[in-house]
Parts: sequence; structure tokens; C-alpha cells
Amino acid sequence: MAGYRAPHPQRPQIRRIAHRQTQTARVVGLVLMWGIIALVALAADRAIPREHLPWKPLALVDPIGAATRIKAARTGEDPAACRDVLKQGGVEFVEVAARTSGFCDVHDAVLMEAGMAPLSPRDAPMTCKQALAVSLWERQVVQQAAFDTFGQAVVSIDHYGSYACRRMYGQDDAPVSQHATANALDVAGFRLADGTVISVQKDWADAGPKGRFLRRVRDGACKVFLTTLSPDYNAAHHDHFHLDMGGRAKCA
Ligand SMILES: [Zn+2]
Repeated sequence: MAGYRAPHPQRPQIRRIAHRQTQTARVVGLVLMWGIIALVALAADRAIPREHLPWKPLALVDPIGAATRIKAARTGEDPAACRDVLKQGGVEFVEVAARTSGFCDVHDAVLMEAGMAPLSPRDAPMTCKQALAVSLWERQVVQQAAFDTFGQAVVSIDHYGSYACRRMYGQDDAPVSQHATANALDVAGFRLADGTVISVQKDWADAGPKGRFLRRVRDGACKVFLTTLSPDYNAAHHDHFHLDMGGRAKCA
């Protein structure tokens, strides 16, 4: 006769055991997963060069890596650490007095005096993070490209200025330029040890070594500076590279 069947007397106990086993499996799974993640992180920390790891300190002797730009930008938050990186990299500098004028505000700025190919003109005050980015780019990108392309060093970097109390493109209604906080540099060209001049204006379109050198140092700048603008960007940049550490990330 079909009808009522009493519940199995052991069923609640089986459910409790099954529940406990499921919970234990979850805990073991979580511990295993985090253990594997920790091991992978530890292995990465040891095996991957530090220029690719954002948690490792920045050094001017490091080649450019995946984390270089983020680490260079971060030095703006710690003036003392920024200066330490410059000093440890052999860059000599003096402090620049803070100044404020209207919407223009210079603070945390330095003037580099030695330890890299001199900027011409020498009077180029820059925020510490911008100075650090320029030194890093000079050492790890510009000089490498000069030796590879011409077999000699760059002995001077010509520029149109770092600090200028103005808005973008000199227009009254434009956003404030990074130059207004000395957080930018307009690079016009390079001089080699044998006197050769490489000009952004004259040689950007060159199919030979000068053009190749300029495009390589522009591409390298994109991995160091937050904003890199070249003649590829617009006509206003036909004769210089605008390099800054404050704008939105842009490489053109
Ligand atoms: Zn500029």
C-alpha cells in the first residue's frame, strides 16, 4: 500500500556531516588559493626586474620598464624621496624658491646643475618629478639611442623653456598649461659630441638616422612622461617635443 513513510532516522545527521565537509572543503580551497597567489607574487618579486614592479623603488640606473612612468609620477607626492632618487643617480641640483603669481604656482622645484647632458639654456626650473623624468629619459632613452644610432653621446639638449606663466597655446580661455607650474619642458633638439645638431623642426620627417633617433626618443618619452606631444600631434608642436608630468596620459 502506497502511503506515508517515516523520515529516515539518520538523514539529519548525514546532512550535518555533508554540510561540515562542504565548509571544510571551502576553507581548504581558500587557503590553497591564497597560498598559490602568495607564492606567485613572491616568485614575481624575485624573478621580474624591478623596473616592471610598481612596488619597487625607482632608480635612475634602471632601464625603462612597465612601471617606470607610474613610479616617476608618484615621486611628486614625496619631495624628499624624489630628491633622494636624483642624488643617488648622481644628478646635482639646487632648490628653486617657491613663487606664486595669479594662476601660476611654482613649488617643489629644482634646477639641475650636473649629472646629465646639460639643458640649453641652463635656466630650466622644474618640479622635482619633472626633473627626475627628464634625467631618467636623458640617461635611459636619449643617450642609449644616440650611442646606438650615432655611436656617440648627446652633450646638450636644446629647449624652448620649462616654466612659463601662461595658459595652453597662449590662449586666454584655455586650461592652465603645465608650464605654469614648471611641470613641463619643450625640447627643441639635441647636440652630439662631434657637434652634429638634431632638430625636431628640421629632422622629424627625415628618413635617415636623425629622424629615426627623434622618433625613438619620442617613443621612449611616452614611457616616462605622463604627456608626450611631438610633431605627430599637431602643427603647434612642429618644432618641439612637449614633455610633462602633470597632464592626462597622452602619447602622440
Ligand atoms: Zn610645452
